[in-house]
Amino acid sequence: MEISISTIPDNEFKKKYETESTLEFGKVFTDRMFLINYSNGQWENPRITKYGLLSLEPSAIALQYGQTIFEGQKAYRTKDGKLNLFRPNLNIERFNNSAKRMAMPEIPPEIYSDSLKVLLDLERDWAPKKVGSALYIRPTMIGTQGRLGVIPSDEYLFYIILSPVGPYFPEGFKPIKIWVSENYIRAAPGGTGYAKTGGNYAASLLIGKEALEKGYSQVLWLDAIHKKYVEEVGAMNIFFVYNDTLYTAPLDSGTILPGLTRKSVIQMAKDFGYSIKEQALSMDEIVEGTKNGSLQECFGAGTAASIAPVGCLRYQGKEHIINEFQIGEITQKIYDKLIGIQYGNIDDPYGWIVPV
Ligand SMILES: *Cc1c(COP(=O)(O)O)cnc(C)c1O
Repeated sequence: MEISISTIPDNEFKKKYETESTLEFGKVFTDRMFLINYSNGQWENPRITKYGLLSLEPSAIALQYGQTIFEGQKAYRTKDGKLNLFRPNLNIERFNNSAKRMAMPEIPPEIYSDSLKVLLDLERDWAPKKVGSALYIRPTMIGTQGRLGVIPSDEYLFYIILSPVGPYFPEGFKPIKIWVSENYIRAAPGGTGYAKTGGNYAASLLIGKEALEKGYSQVLWLDAIHKKYVEEVGAMNIFFVYNDTLYTAPLDSGTILPGLTRKSVIQMAKDFGYSIKEQALSMDEIVEGTKNGSLQECFGAGTAASIAPVGCLRYQGKEHIINEFQIGEITQKIYDKLIGIQYGNIDDPYGWIVPV
């Protein structure tokens, strides 16, 4: 693929981030972006341009009916200045699973991966140096055709933008407080829960805002049918530790986003010698576990936040405290190993890292 790369005059380059510690998540974007169009059944015009506005018809299907998908991945800067991608093929695979669910064309994996590498190479200097910071990567596809009929778009835009980010939670690697949603649900069987599509996140905004106002950083979703079984948290999968066994919800209902952090945690935990049960837990069991102390630890897992220890679940009017609001031993071990592999500070026994 021949990517056309526009030149940016020197005086138009943005100032690079200056104070890494104050980088808020996803508010700053690098100088360039990658774009490619789909029309007449073909991907065409791959290009890297200055980061800037898109021009869209007001009737674009993406805007009217939410035919949009995205991915979230990170490039981690190593001590020797390389950028490490973490299991990037899984992002491509998941992006195309999301595309299928939303009746969108799949992106050929080599277009995704080649364009990402060229873009990262140009924007390398934007990658923050501090552990916990990274260059966040947001590949996106939208239906661009202007038409009000509710049928899939004939035309699409795939693009990649990059954002230097600090830690997802301003408090850093510390236990977070979570609001359990008792009325609103995120995903139902047969719906779009397993796809990274805009509507899933739009539907979470109202309660997310209410939770934040009350001092909770994330919302925990229960299953749509019984409103009882724990599914996942905001943009993270969730793990509970009882008796040195890690529990996380199974993926077969199609309501849960199959996180690659989740998959990696499962692998690492097994290799540490812990048991794993992909089994749904009910809120009743969890509340019981916080009361009798059998619930040792709880943590969220996702690219944006990596591993987030959970110190408190607010459910049915009460706060249920986990592990005395301390980071658990297993949570810490998994965090250290994951971060160590991602930043290239420890060996990668799995072959998960792809340096750029
Ligand atoms: C992206 C996401 C996750 C985590 O997936 P990772 O691949 O680990 O980043 C979990 N849940 C939801 C709803 C998500 O959007």
